[in-house]
Amino acid sequence: MTSLIKSVQDIKNVIAESERPLALVPTMGSLHEGHISLIKAAKNECRTTIVYIFVNPLQFGPNEDFNEYPRNITGDLKICEENNVDFVFAPEAGEIYPDIENAKKNPITPPDKLRNILCGRTRQNHFSGVATVIKRFLDIVEPDFIYFGEKDLQQLHVIKWLIKEFNLPVTLKSCPTARESTGLAYSSRNKYLTHEQEVIAANLYKSLKLAKGNTRSGMFSINKSILESLIFLSPFPEIKIEYFEARDKTNLDKVADDAKHGFYYLIAARIGKIRLIDNIEVT
Ligand code: AMP
Repeated sequence: MTSLIKSVQDIKNVIAESERPLALVPTMGSLHEGHISLIKAAKNECRTTIVYIFVNPLQFGPNEDFNEYPRNITGDLKICEENNVDFVFAPEAGEIYPDIENAKKNPITPPDKLRNILCGRTRQNHFSGVATVIKRFLDIVEPDFIYFGEKDLQQLHVIKWLIKEFNLPVTLKSCPTARESTGLAYSSRNKYLTHEQEVIAANLYKSLKLAKGNTRSGMFSINKSILESLIFLSPFPEIKIEYFEARDKTNLDKVADDAKHGFYYLIAARIGKIRLIDNIEVT
Protein backbone atom coordinates (compact mmCIF):
# COMPACT_ATOMS: atom_id res chain seq x y z
CA MET A 1 0.00 0.00 0.00
CA THR A 2 1.49 3.32 -1.11
CA SER A 3 1.05 6.30 1.24
CA LEU A 4 0.84 9.83 -0.14
CA ILE A 5 2.76 12.30 2.00
CA LYS A 6 2.56 16.05 1.47
CA SER A 7 4.56 17.67 4.26
CA VAL A 8 8.24 17.68 5.18
CA GLN A 9 7.43 16.87 8.80
CA ASP A 10 5.30 13.86 7.84
CA ILE A 11 7.94 12.41 5.50
CA LYS A 12 10.59 12.82 8.21
CA ASN A 13 8.31 11.02 10.67
CA VAL A 14 7.72 8.02 8.39
CA ILE A 15 11.41 7.84 7.43
CA ALA A 16 12.37 7.64 11.10
CA GLU A 17 10.24 4.46 11.31
CA SER A 18 11.33 2.96 7.96
CA GLU A 19 13.78 0.19 7.24
CA ARG A 20 17.01 0.97 5.44
CA PRO A 21 18.53 1.03 2.91
CA LEU A 22 16.23 3.82 1.80
CA ALA A 23 15.85 4.73 -1.90
CA LEU A 24 14.81 8.11 -3.28
CA VAL A 25 13.51 8.35 -6.85
CA PRO A 26 13.15 12.02 -7.86
CA THR A 27 10.53 12.75 -10.53
CA MET A 28 8.36 15.55 -11.84
CA GLY A 29 5.44 13.11 -12.10
CA SER A 30 3.38 12.10 -15.11
CA LEU A 31 5.08 8.77 -14.62
CA HIS A 32 5.95 6.44 -17.51
CA GLU A 33 8.03 3.33 -18.22
CA GLY A 34 11.27 5.30 -17.77
CA HIS A 35 10.32 6.24 -14.21
CA ILE A 36 9.09 2.70 -13.57
CA SER A 37 12.51 1.30 -14.52
CA LEU A 38 14.04 3.54 -11.81
CA ILE A 39 11.43 2.39 -9.29
CA LYS A 40 12.13 -1.26 -10.11
CA ALA A 41 15.89 -0.76 -9.65
CA ALA A 42 15.23 0.96 -6.32
CA LYS A 43 12.87 -1.79 -5.16
CA ASN A 44 15.48 -4.36 -6.07
CA GLU A 45 18.22 -2.79 -3.98
CA CYS A 46 16.47 -1.11 -1.05
CA ARG A 47 14.05 -1.97 1.78
CA THR A 48 12.08 1.29 1.52
CA THR A 49 11.37 3.28 -1.65
CA ILE A 50 10.22 6.90 -1.77
CA VAL A 51 9.20 8.45 -5.09
CA TYR A 52 9.01 12.20 -5.00
CA ILE A 53 6.78 14.09 -7.37
CA PHE A 54 7.61 17.77 -7.61
CA VAL A 55 7.51 20.03 -10.64
CA ASN A 56 10.40 22.23 -9.62
CA PRO A 57 9.73 25.88 -10.53
CA LEU A 58 13.44 26.74 -10.21
CA GLN A 59 14.49 24.63 -13.17
CA PHE A 60 12.13 26.21 -15.71
CA GLY A 61 13.02 29.41 -17.56
CA PRO A 62 10.48 32.24 -17.91
CA ASN A 63 9.58 31.13 -21.44
CA GLU A 64 9.48 27.41 -20.69
CA ASP A 65 6.60 25.03 -20.04
CA PHE A 66 6.27 25.09 -16.24
CA ASN A 67 2.51 25.77 -16.38
CA GLU A 68 1.90 23.31 -19.24
CA TYR A 69 4.10 20.55 -17.79
CA PRO A 70 1.85 17.43 -17.56
CA ARG A 71 0.53 16.71 -14.07
CA ASN A 72 -1.40 13.57 -13.18
CA ILE A 73 -1.19 12.71 -9.48
CA THR A 74 -4.05 10.16 -9.64
CA GLY A 75 -2.39 8.18 -12.44
CA ASP A 76 1.00 8.52 -10.72
CA LEU A 77 -0.32 7.11 -7.46
CA LYS A 78 -1.83 4.16 -9.30
CA ILE A 79 1.53 3.40 -10.97
CA CYS A 80 3.34 3.68 -7.64
CA GLU A 81 0.76 1.42 -6.01
CA GLU A 82 1.17 -1.17 -8.79
CA ASN A 83 4.93 -1.10 -8.30
CA ASN A 84 4.78 -1.37 -4.50
CA VAL A 85 6.34 2.01 -3.81
CA ASP A 86 6.21 2.65 -0.06
CA PHE A 87 5.77 6.43 -0.06
CA VAL A 88 4.97 9.09 -2.63
CA PHE A 89 6.22 12.44 -1.38
CA ALA A 90 4.39 15.20 -3.27
CA PRO A 91 4.89 18.49 -1.42
CA GLU A 92 3.69 21.96 -2.41
CA ALA A 93 6.43 24.39 -3.49
CA GLY A 94 6.22 26.23 -0.13
CA GLU A 95 7.32 23.08 1.72
CA ILE A 96 10.49 22.79 -0.32
CA TYR A 97 11.13 26.52 -0.73
CA PRO A 98 9.86 28.37 2.36
CA ASP A 99 11.47 31.49 0.80
CA ILE A 100 11.36 30.87 -2.94
CA GLU A 101 12.62 34.33 -3.92
CA ASN A 102 15.73 33.74 -1.86
CA ALA A 103 16.16 30.25 -3.37
CA LYS A 104 15.92 31.79 -6.86
CA LYS A 105 18.49 34.44 -5.97
CA ASN A 106 20.90 32.03 -4.30
CA PRO A 107 20.71 28.69 -6.11
CA ILE A 108 23.38 26.02 -5.93
CA THR A 109 25.42 26.69 -9.04
CA PRO A 110 27.32 23.85 -10.72
CA PRO A 111 30.61 24.77 -12.45
CA ASP A 112 30.30 26.53 -15.82
CA LYS A 113 31.88 23.61 -17.71
CA LEU A 114 28.94 21.42 -16.65
CA ARG A 115 26.21 24.04 -16.51
CA ASN A 116 26.74 26.07 -19.67
CA ILE A 117 27.18 23.28 -22.20
CA LEU A 118 24.63 21.17 -24.13
CA CYS A 119 21.14 21.83 -22.66
CA GLY A 120 22.53 24.56 -20.40
CA ARG A 121 23.25 26.78 -23.39
CA THR A 122 19.55 27.26 -24.11
CA ARG A 123 18.11 26.44 -20.68
CA GLN A 124 19.69 29.16 -18.54
CA ASN A 125 19.57 28.44 -14.79
CA HIS A 126 18.15 24.97 -15.47
CA PHE A 127 20.97 23.02 -13.85
CA SER A 128 21.25 25.42 -10.92
CA GLY A 129 17.54 24.75 -10.36
CA VAL A 130 18.12 21.00 -10.58
CA ALA A 131 21.09 21.06 -8.17
CA THR A 132 19.14 23.23 -5.71
CA VAL A 133 16.05 21.03 -5.63
CA ILE A 134 17.96 17.76 -5.36
CA LYS A 135 20.03 19.15 -2.47
CA ARG A 136 16.81 20.18 -0.67
CA PHE A 137 15.24 16.73 -1.09
CA LEU A 138 18.48 14.99 -0.08
CA ASP A 139 18.63 17.10 3.09
CA ILE A 140 15.03 16.23 3.95
CA VAL A 141 14.95 12.52 3.04
CA GLU A 142 18.59 11.53 3.71
CA PRO A 143 18.33 8.43 1.48
CA ASP A 144 21.06 5.82 1.14
CA PHE A 145 20.59 5.60 -2.65
CA ILE A 146 19.26 8.08 -5.20
CA TYR A 147 18.18 6.98 -8.69
CA PHE A 148 18.49 8.87 -11.97
CA GLY A 149 18.03 8.01 -15.64
CA GLU A 150 20.83 8.13 -18.19
CA LYS A 151 18.45 9.81 -20.62
CA ASP A 152 19.19 13.05 -18.76
CA LEU A 153 22.94 12.54 -18.96
CA GLN A 154 23.96 16.11 -18.19
CA GLN A 155 21.68 16.10 -15.14
CA LEU A 156 23.39 12.90 -14.00
CA HIS A 157 26.77 14.62 -14.17
CA VAL A 158 25.43 17.62 -12.26
CA ILE A 159 24.18 15.32 -9.48
CA LYS A 160 27.53 13.52 -9.40
CA TRP A 161 29.18 16.93 -8.92
CA LEU A 162 26.63 17.93 -6.25
CA ILE A 163 27.23 14.81 -4.16
CA LYS A 164 31.00 15.27 -4.35
CA GLU A 165 30.93 19.03 -3.76
CA PHE A 166 28.82 18.76 -0.57
CA ASN A 167 30.27 15.39 0.45
CA LEU A 168 26.73 13.99 0.70
CA PRO A 169 26.31 10.55 2.27
CA VAL A 170 24.31 9.04 -0.60
CA THR A 171 25.12 6.65 -3.44
CA LEU A 172 24.12 7.72 -6.93
CA LYS A 173 22.58 5.01 -9.12
CA SER A 174 22.05 5.49 -12.84
CA CYS A 175 19.61 3.48 -14.95
CA PRO A 176 19.64 2.92 -18.73
CA THR A 177 17.18 4.80 -20.93
CA ALA A 178 13.85 3.02 -21.33
CA ARG A 179 12.50 3.21 -24.88
CA GLU A 180 9.35 2.57 -26.87
CA SER A 181 9.60 -0.29 -29.38
CA THR A 182 10.37 2.38 -32.00
CA GLY A 183 13.45 3.43 -30.03
CA LEU A 184 11.91 6.72 -28.90
CA ALA A 185 12.99 7.41 -25.31
CA TYR A 186 10.03 7.62 -22.92
CA SER A 187 9.46 11.16 -21.72
CA SER A 188 6.61 12.90 -19.91
CA ARG A 189 6.52 15.38 -22.78
CA ASN A 190 5.87 12.64 -25.39
CA LYS A 191 2.16 12.78 -24.61
CA TYR A 192 2.06 16.19 -26.29
CA LEU A 193 3.33 14.72 -29.58
CA THR A 194 0.77 13.90 -32.24
CA HIS A 195 0.99 10.37 -33.61
CA GLU A 196 2.70 11.72 -36.72
CA GLN A 197 5.24 13.66 -34.62
CA GLU A 198 5.88 10.58 -32.50
CA VAL A 199 6.74 8.57 -35.61
CA ILE A 200 9.11 11.32 -36.74
CA ALA A 201 10.63 11.59 -33.25
CA ALA A 202 11.80 7.97 -33.41
CA ASN A 203 14.42 9.16 -35.93
CA LEU A 204 16.35 10.90 -33.18
CA TYR A 205 17.47 7.60 -31.69
CA LYS A 206 18.06 6.20 -35.19
CA SER A 207 20.40 9.11 -35.89
CA LEU A 208 22.33 8.40 -32.67
CA LYS A 209 22.64 4.72 -33.56
CA LEU A 210 23.81 5.67 -37.03
CA ALA A 211 26.54 7.94 -35.62
CA LYS A 212 27.66 5.24 -33.22
CA GLY A 213 27.80 2.63 -35.99
CA ASN A 214 29.72 4.92 -38.32
CA THR A 215 32.29 5.73 -35.64
CA ARG A 216 32.72 2.21 -34.31
CA SER A 217 33.17 0.67 -37.73
CA GLY A 218 36.05 3.09 -38.22
CA MET A 219 34.32 4.40 -41.32
CA PHE A 220 34.10 8.04 -40.17
CA SER A 221 35.62 10.39 -37.63
CA ILE A 222 33.33 11.88 -34.99
CA ASN A 223 32.65 15.09 -36.91
CA LYS A 224 31.93 13.18 -40.11
CA SER A 225 29.66 10.75 -38.23
CA ILE A 226 27.69 13.69 -36.80
CA LEU A 227 27.43 15.21 -40.28
CA GLU A 228 26.12 11.90 -41.68
CA SER A 229 23.49 11.78 -38.94
CA LEU A 230 22.44 15.37 -39.64
CA ILE A 231 22.07 14.40 -43.30
CA PHE A 232 19.97 11.42 -42.21
CA LEU A 233 17.67 13.77 -40.26
CA SER A 234 17.49 16.42 -42.97
CA PRO A 235 14.41 14.95 -44.77
CA PHE A 236 12.41 15.74 -41.60
CA PRO A 237 11.99 19.51 -41.51
CA GLU A 238 9.76 19.08 -38.42
CA ILE A 239 12.89 18.18 -36.43
CA LYS A 240 14.66 21.37 -35.35
CA ILE A 241 18.02 20.31 -33.99
CA GLU A 242 19.44 22.27 -31.09
CA TYR A 243 22.65 20.29 -30.77
CA PHE A 244 24.25 17.02 -31.84
CA GLU A 245 27.55 16.55 -30.04
CA ALA A 246 30.06 14.01 -28.80
CA ARG A 247 31.08 14.35 -25.16
CA ASP A 248 33.46 12.47 -22.89
CA LYS A 249 31.85 9.78 -20.75
CA THR A 250 33.55 10.77 -17.50
CA ASN A 251 33.31 14.57 -17.51
CA LEU A 252 31.28 15.66 -20.57
CA ASP A 253 34.30 17.46 -22.03
CA LYS A 254 34.60 17.67 -25.82
CA VAL A 255 36.39 14.70 -27.37
CA ALA A 256 39.04 14.43 -30.05
CA ASP A 257 37.71 13.93 -33.59
CA ASP A 258 39.43 10.54 -33.85
CA ALA A 259 38.12 9.11 -30.53
CA LYS A 260 36.56 5.68 -31.03
CA HIS A 261 34.99 4.99 -27.64
CA GLY A 262 34.56 6.32 -24.10
CA PHE A 263 32.09 9.02 -25.10
CA TYR A 264 28.43 9.72 -25.78
CA TYR A 265 26.63 11.19 -28.73
CA LEU A 266 23.94 13.53 -27.43
CA ILE A 267 21.08 15.19 -29.27
CA ALA A 268 18.47 17.81 -28.39
CA ALA A 269 15.75 18.78 -30.83
CA ARG A 270 12.35 20.37 -31.00
CA ILE A 271 9.43 18.80 -32.79
CA GLY A 272 6.73 21.44 -32.88
CA LYS A 273 6.82 22.93 -29.40
CA ILE A 274 8.13 19.79 -27.74
CA ARG A 275 11.78 19.64 -26.80
CA LEU A 276 13.28 16.14 -26.72
CA ILE A 277 16.72 14.89 -25.68
CA ASP A 278 18.47 11.57 -26.09
CA ASN A 279 21.96 10.07 -26.09
CA ILE A 280 23.89 6.92 -26.84
CA GLU A 281 27.12 5.63 -25.37
CA VAL A 282 29.91 4.68 -27.74
CA THR A 283 31.64 1.86 -25.96
P1 AMP B 1 11.56 13.66 -14.90
O1 AMP B 1 10.26 13.30 -14.26
O2 AMP B 1 11.47 13.86 -16.37
O3 AMP B 1 12.28 14.77 -14.17
O4 AMP B 1 12.48 12.37 -14.74
C1 AMP B 1 12.70 11.79 -13.48
C2 AMP B 1 13.78 10.77 -13.59
O5 AMP B 1 13.39 9.77 -14.53
C3 AMP B 1 15.11 11.34 -14.09
O6 AMP B 1 16.17 10.72 -13.38
C4 AMP B 1 15.13 10.95 -15.54
O7 AMP B 1 16.44 10.80 -16.06
C5 AMP B 1 14.44 9.60 -15.48
N1 AMP B 1 13.88 9.25 -16.79
C6 AMP B 1 13.08 10.00 -17.57
N2 AMP B 1 12.83 9.37 -18.74
C7 AMP B 1 13.52 8.20 -18.68
C8 AMP B 1 13.69 7.11 -19.58
N3 AMP B 1 13.09 7.09 -20.77
N4 AMP B 1 14.46 6.07 -19.19
C9 AMP B 1 15.08 6.06 -17.98
N5 AMP B 1 14.95 7.08 -17.09
C10 AMP B 1 14.19 8.12 -17.43
